[in-house]
Amino acid sequence: MPQKKICIIGAGLCGSLLATRLAQRGLNVDVYEKRPDLRRVEIDAGRSINLALSDRGFKALRMIGAEEEVRKHVIPMYGRMIHPLEGENSLYRYSGRERDFINSVSRPGLNAFLLNKADDYEDVDLYFNTACTQVNLDTGEVELRKRGEGRVTKKYDIVIGTDGAGSVVRQAFSRASNRIRFNFSQKFLDTGYKELTIPPGTHASFLIEKNALHIWPRDGFMKIALPNLDGSFTVTLFAPFDGENSFSSLDSDEKVRSFFDRQFPDTKDIMPDLIRDWHENPSSSLGTIKCWPWQYEGRFLIMGDAAHAIVPFYGQGMNCALEDCYVFDQMIEEFGDDWNSILKAYDDRRKPSADAIADLAEDNFYEMRDATADPVFNRKRRIELRLEQEDPSYYSKYSLVTFKEDLPYEKAMKQGRAQNEVLMELARNVENPDALSTEVVKQKLREALPEYFG
Ligand SMILES: Cc1cc2nc3c(=O)[nH]c(=O)nc-3n(C[C@H](O)[C@H](O)[C@H](O)COP(=O)(O)OP(=O)(O)OC[C@H]3O[C@@H](n4cnc5c(N)ncnc54)[C@H](O)[C@@H]3O)c2cc1C
Repeated sequence: MPQKKICIIGAGLCGSLLATRLAQRGLNVDVYEKRPDLRRVEIDAGRSINLALSDRGFKALRMIGAEEEVRKHVIPMYGRMIHPLEGENSLYRYSGRERDFINSVSRPGLNAFLLNKADDYEDVDLYFNTACTQVNLDTGEVELRKRGEGRVTKKYDIVIGTDGAGSVVRQAFSRASNRIRFNFSQKFLDTGYKELTIPPGTHASFLIEKNALHIWPRDGFMKIALPNLDGSFTVTLFAPFDGENSFSSLDSDEKVRSFFDRQFPDTKDIMPDLIRDWHENPSSSLGTIKCWPWQYEGRFLIMGDAAHAIVPFYGQGMNCALEDCYVFDQMIEEFGDDWNSILKAYDDRRKPSADAIADLAEDNFYEMRDATADPVFNRKRRIELRLEQEDPSYYSKYSLVTFKEDLPYEKAMKQGRAQNEVLMELARNVENPDALSTEVVKQKLREALPEYFG
């Protein structure tokens, strides 16, 4: 049987991993990326942008034999370092198990690494500065525009869009929505984000704890920071666009400076570039995109953010996009060269997982914003943390999602939510959670949820 001609639109994290895996399976792939080759040209004005990489992402990297190499270039973050407005900072480990932690990875660094991997295979042709402008769902033709040149059209048997939240491939699905019964929803938060920096100290030292994800939770907004290998931290301010303590209210350098001095006094002296960063970096929006179906006629498919962009409050968007490639590969294993079945089965298998992590990520936004000030919620957290420390077989909702790489997101969500209900009920009825023995908590869980703890 002649080999299928496959094209991938978008050489981001998902597209470059997918191209590598398809080449490892002996398939021939053309990859089109609208931006320049980030291994040669500095993109994002040289800003260090990092992401939290966790077990699902590593599972997908293991699939292409790259896990160990990537682990050499990440910074483990063993817990959340909470910086209250007043009082001592506290480090809350992600779980009671030593092996459970998340990792800060450079986005461009990981992307460049994956592009190098894809480049190792003769069967992968990478075309940079080449944007896909249209996809014809009847013919399989993709219209491409190379920077500085005219448009060309090429025809493929399989077209996979890994072209991110603004996907052109998804737009082709939308245009044919009546015919293919394509459902689409996009929901923005009223909160946006801006990236800032804590530069390295002398000799590339870290000016705050290196091995933690730092969080400054505040009322209606928050700041986080993740470490970079050069000793700097990428800081992200999440704040509402309008109203009190919003991006629009911080409309002068004085207001920005005084807001940061008041709200984040412990970083007052270590963010010297605050005002420059504030002006140079955009205030960007955050939202959730859900759509369905992701495939059409066993020929066209969307994956990663193109199919399911989510808000970043679980640190799972990239992990989910990488896991997409893993699940897709399992379908190839199962269905061989029956591409119609591969695409359809992938679609069915993966959609519930993507919906679950989208919902979890939104829940976490509200939880981080509102629930951390709720005494019942805080008591529940204490009960659960101790439980995880004293019984390593117990996984909190966060741990199920982040560290149970073989448990699909939808199952992690179902179990995690059920556990939470039981623990919240307990927390409502105790004044001092430390007085509650772990055995009593486990007994409650066994009684209420025999399917998980029986
Ligand atoms: C503030 C923030 C923080 C985040 N933090 C985390 C985190 O800690 N952990 C985590 O797991 N996830 C995180 N995410 C989510 C993560 O960034 C995304 O889920 C991930 O980048 C998705 O990868 P992707 O390859 O699907 O899409 P993208 O990374 O968006 O890649 C798409 C690629 O397609 C290219 N492209 C687009 N249009 C075209 C076109 N028409 N033609 C050709 N090429 C095209 C783009 O240039 C890009 O290279 C965060 C997101 C945000 C916004």
